[in-house]
Amino acid sequence: MGGTFDPIHFGHLVAAEEALVQFNLDRVIFMPTGEPARKTHLDVTQAEDRYLMAVIATASHPDFEVSRMEIDRPGPTYTVDTLRALRNIHGKMADLYFITGADAVWEMLTWKDAEEFEDLCTFIAATRPGYDLDAARQEHADALARLRIEFIEVPALAISSTDIRQRVGERRPIRYLTPESVVAYIKKHRLYQEAY
Ligand code: NAP
Repeated sequence: MGGTFDPIHFGHLVAAEEALVQFNLDRVIFMPTGEPARKTHLDVTQAEDRYLMAVIATASHPDFEVSRMEIDRPGPTYTVDTLRALRNIHGKMADLYFITGADAVWEMLTWKDAEEFEDLCTFIAATRPGYDLDAARQEHADALARLRIEFIEVPALAISSTDIRQRVGERRPIRYLTPESVVAYIKKHRLYQEAY
């Protein structure tokens, strides 16, 4: 489950649960991006904060874990490096799925060493309510031809990290958009105080 998770919210958690059940997965490993390859460090909260929020949000789920792999790897985060590492750890026979947002998935052909993706994993793209999947499929026929992509509809993805950051900056409530523990963490560490 790859994402910046700035911050993690119920949309991500519901998407992970949906993927776990629909694809009969053994577990979901949340993988907060270290240094997002396409964002500057000014755009994102410190990796350690994003990692810790993911840990506290998922702590009670028996099949969810959080990995430090991307935040501990120096330099910009490339998904292909993560997938190669997971393939080495879990072996050739493991079925690997990379779950992320549908918008991110369409850019994949432009990511580093994208030609390796087909052999490394199946992608699970989570769509938000109102997402026009038919139009997206037509627009991105090249990606569909070259990558293994499955889609899941996640109504809870009406919640977004951008909206949560905006709300905090505007002193509006975020309770019930993300777990209580994450709400408390954001408050304690004064994250997202600047208005967006
Ligand atoms: P993003 O551009 O911040 O997010 C794109 C959209 O997808 C947003 O609407 C976002 O909503 C949603 N989203 C992101 N992660 C999600 C998840 N796990 N489940 C459901 N929705 C999700 O994308 P990003 O978070 O930076 O990147 C997504 C993944 O792609 C990360 O693992 C990143 O490392 C990888 N990536 C790799 C490369 C590369 O290898 N060159 C380049 C770019 C991205 P929220 O804001 O609400 O999460």
